[in-house]
Amino acid sequence: MPRATKIVATLGPASTEPDVLAKLVAAGVDVFRFNFSHGTADDHLLRADRVRTAARNAGREVAIMADLQGPKIRIGKFTDGRIVLEVDAPFVLDAAFEGPGDGGHVGLDYKELPRDVRPDDVLLLNDGLIVLVVERVEGSRIHTTVRVGGELSNNKGINRQGGGLTAPALTMKDMEDIKTAMRLGADYVAVSFPKNATDMSLARLLANAAATEAGVAPPYMIAKIERAEAIPALQEILDASDGIMVARGDLAVEVGNPAVPALQKRMIKMARASNKLAITATQMMESMIVNAIPTRAEVSDVANAVLDGTDAVMLSAETASGRHPVATVQAMSAIVTAADESETVKLDADFLDQTFARVDQSIAYGALFTAHHLRCKAIVALTESGSTALWMSRHDIDLPIYAVTPRMPTLRKLSLFRNVRAIEMAENFDRDSALVQAVQLLQRQDLVASGDLIVITIGEPMGSPGGTNTLKIVKVGELLARPADASA
Ligand code: PGA
Ligand code: MN
Repeated sequence: MPRATKIVATLGPASTEPDVLAKLVAAGVDVFRFNFSHGTADDHLLRADRVRTAARNAGREVAIMADLQGPKIRIGKFTDGRIVLEVDAPFVLDAAFEGPGDGGHVGLDYKELPRDVRPDDVLLLNDGLIVLVVERVEGSRIHTTVRVGGELSNNKGINRQGGGLTAPALTMKDMEDIKTAMRLGADYVAVSFPKNATDMSLARLLANAAATEAGVAPPYMIAKIERAEAIPALQEILDASDGIMVARGDLAVEVGNPAVPALQKRMIKMARASNKLAITATQMMESMIVNAIPTRAEVSDVANAVLDGTDAVMLSAETASGRHPVATVQAMSAIVTAADESETVKLDADFLDQTFARVDQSIAYGALFTAHHLRCKAIVALTESGSTALWMSRHDIDLPIYAVTPRMPTLRKLSLFRNVRAIEMAENFDRDSALVQAVQLLQRQDLVASGDLIVITIGEPMGSPGGTNTLKIVKVGELLARPADASA
């Protein structure tokens, strides 16, 4: 069985060269995350080209997720890229300072910060690794003392303990970056720090407009849950999004580390129950930024996210700037594969109290139920929009789901869905020959074999998104085509 849980890898200086990208694809990256907190539009466009080439060379598709910087309050750059802060040393955050900083002071991208903080506030930098205490504010300058020191590099984030810093949902930079993201054909757009459904709806509106302008398909919108305010608004945020990211870095700083594991479980469960996607992110394999193997705790963390039901586990600095980007993906893939296999099937209880509003949704669940109880080898969804595959993948089943589609944007988006493997098929509006064609494709890739019992879902007429209305049970090799279509 192919690996069910997917891997998202962030690109950066350690993973921009074509040979590294090729190795990352080969190691099993399903989605590449472009972090718009770093790099120029041209950097991202070049990387997108290289990602598409690497995937094409490997004979499969991957998705690109553009992760907007959002109203995250970040420091500026340093002359040497990084500094080391000593405990008890003074350090100044200066909203008016534009140049590269040094060991004494650095600029800020959020000019309002000096107005939002007061003496004794605790500021956490770089996901809480560096702790500064505010002494006093003089105009644009926030004077602090280092409480917890260490290395600090360019553009690291700042949080206030307890959350509540005022900043708009989408910055001017985000609005420009959305256009760049659509120009490079991003399949997913991740929105940072949304507080409510309105933030997500606005982002979607802008993304859809930019997609139309660029002549690409509308992206799926991922809400990064990383603000204390987003927790009570989770259901409305889910309803306005296609998925969420459990963004444990900022979230942990805002709500405190101990609250995060239970929140992770609740978020993933709610996402799946709402037919939405979930990504678990941040520090999953953190020690592999430097080391060649993960810690036992990291292994457990990745495996537990899989057992929580996440669609994907995400790598950040590990692949963006770490020493072992490829080995990290390989290690993560091995952990995920082992955890996938231990997943228990809970399907029977899932549908007892459910009613379905849509024909295609009922067919999707009917296929799951049938495949499970008939002990079939696979489920094959011929899909235009990918919705049937999404519904199927919200439930645990110990069979692979193959989503066969002629639509490239759908093919790429499917890369993130748990337990779904996307297969490209030539456009075919004739239902009977499309069925034969799909099964032959799977057979040729050794995904099913002659004599296997499989369940297929399909829509008639073909070619309209949301049109799935048919469930067919076939034995591979016994599906008869009209002679003229057999070679299609
Ligand atoms: P970031 O988001 O890496 O863009 O900050 C993830 C997180 O906060 O966990
Ligand atoms: Mn974050």
